[in-house]
Amino acid sequence: MSPHQPQHLYYEGKQQKASSGKTFETIDPSTAKPLATIHSASHSDIDAAIASASTAFHSWSHTPPNQRCRILLKAVQILRERNDQLAKVESQDTGKPFSETSTVDIVTGADTLEYYANLVGGGGLNGETVTLREGEDGSAWVYTRKEPLGVCVGIGAWNYPIQIALWKSGPCLAAGNTMIYKPSEYTPLHALLLADIFTQAGLPPGVFNVVHGAGDVGGYLTSHPSVAKVSFTGQVSTGRKVAASAAGGMKYVTMELGGKSPLLVLDDCEVDNAVDGAMMANFFSSGQVCTNGTRVFVPRKLKAAFEKRLVEKMEYIRAGDLADSATNFGPLSSKSHWQKVTEYIRHGIDADKAKLLYGGLGAPNVPSRLKDGYWVNPTVFTDCTDDMRICREEIFGPVLCILPYDTVDEAVERANNTSLGLAAGVFTKDLNLAHKVVARLQAGITWINSWGESPSEMSVGGWKMSGVGVENGRKGIEAWVRNKSTLVDMGGQVATVFAKL
Ligand code: NAD
Repeated sequence: MSPHQPQHLYYEGKQQKASSGKTFETIDPSTAKPLATIHSASHSDIDAAIASASTAFHSWSHTPPNQRCRILLKAVQILRERNDQLAKVESQDTGKPFSETSTVDIVTGADTLEYYANLVGGGGLNGETVTLREGEDGSAWVYTRKEPLGVCVGIGAWNYPIQIALWKSGPCLAAGNTMIYKPSEYTPLHALLLADIFTQAGLPPGVFNVVHGAGDVGGYLTSHPSVAKVSFTGQVSTGRKVAASAAGGMKYVTMELGGKSPLLVLDDCEVDNAVDGAMMANFFSSGQVCTNGTRVFVPRKLKAAFEKRLVEKMEYIRAGDLADSATNFGPLSSKSHWQKVTEYIRHGIDADKAKLLYGGLGAPNVPSRLKDGYWVNPTVFTDCTDDMRICREEIFGPVLCILPYDTVDEAVERANNTSLGLAAGVFTKDLNLAHKVVARLQAGITWINSWGESPSEMSVGGWKMSGVGVENGRKGIEAWVRNKSTLVDMGGQVATVFAKL
């Protein structure tokens, strides 16, 4: 299947024509040229996909876990065999360099699918037994089962398309649920390829389905009475709407939302490592990573040394042809996002009056055929203060803000002074202090002397307005099952109070 052909929908184990007549285009952000035409799902198309998922749920949820595991592991194998082909599509669709998509996006997605297939296939999704009474007159105990929820909806953001699809579908399908997946309308090209891979691996028709479209399609899915759960990745403002819509039907939700994460550099740190951490936390994926550490707290006495090394290392950022293995910096993912990030950089300079240390308005030097792409300069502001808009709102672009501080207590307090709580980190040689600082940071994902690595074993999710629940790790599977408790009384007699006196 070519990702450049018109993209329709996928249910009943095959591509299906959309009936809405509504189409949109996905654009190559490095050139601003269209890549493919996508057909939006109508309400009746979505009903048909959900009906297919509902029918498939009965047999899939009754398929022995080790058989589900075998099918999902086959999909892992195909994903890995096709890594580079899929990475090329992700590069074109998202604007990320191939050096990144070929080593991270499909790899981390496949890892998570493998993790949950093995967890469930290896008998790891079990309840517990609790003894209540033991004795000749009747033992009693409670046992619990973890049962799948039913038809689940996955709604993705545009920054890690296939990874998000796999982080949701991996535990969802392993646990015995079926899924309707809606990719972001900005980066939809991975979705039919993934559906096809699942089918080739032996996944029965209706277990994994794809509908395309924008917020209206997402809204119809989240309010659909046949849907048991919504797993959403996106902005806080959209998450609020999705959670409200799901709450109307008492659906389970997982919300993976935005952040404005603090990175604390302590004065005894290894400066080079802290600079590398700050750069990975702001310029990897051109800053379009939810866990970005955009508020970099630097001790006043270390500021000059930190800034000097940072400016030197900024020269290692190389924009250019996405297929070139030397390129490590791509354009922003869409024109509207380019406008938003550009506006934040302008605001930082004109209104916040932040000191521009590197970059600023304009674009990096790229070959002429890429001139129309959505490029912005990797940018560093320094001497920033907490009240600046660029330090309060999620920019989701390559904009690093240095905030000087005097004491660690002050830095922790300022780091926590936000309604968001996705990620946080600390760089120091003093590991005692590192653990104390991390214990005080209000965030669901934290790092010590590292930034950004998010393996499938690590449960990740935001605190405060950054989300509800976690993905990945042993905890992640809990979001895709419900509990059934059964009390067994071996005595054979109900302890009734309604006995004859
Ligand atoms: P977005 O909220 O604009 O869109 C996300 C998805 O929601 C899209 O598929 C969109 O079509 C859909 N949608 C829009 N309106 C909807 C509605 N009313 N009902 C249902 N679905 C609707 O987010 P985005 O711009 O695509 O993604 C960027 C955001 O995602 C950033 O804030 C980033 O921090 C966040 N993000 C979070 C994580 C995480 O794990 N916490 C990971 C990646 C991205």
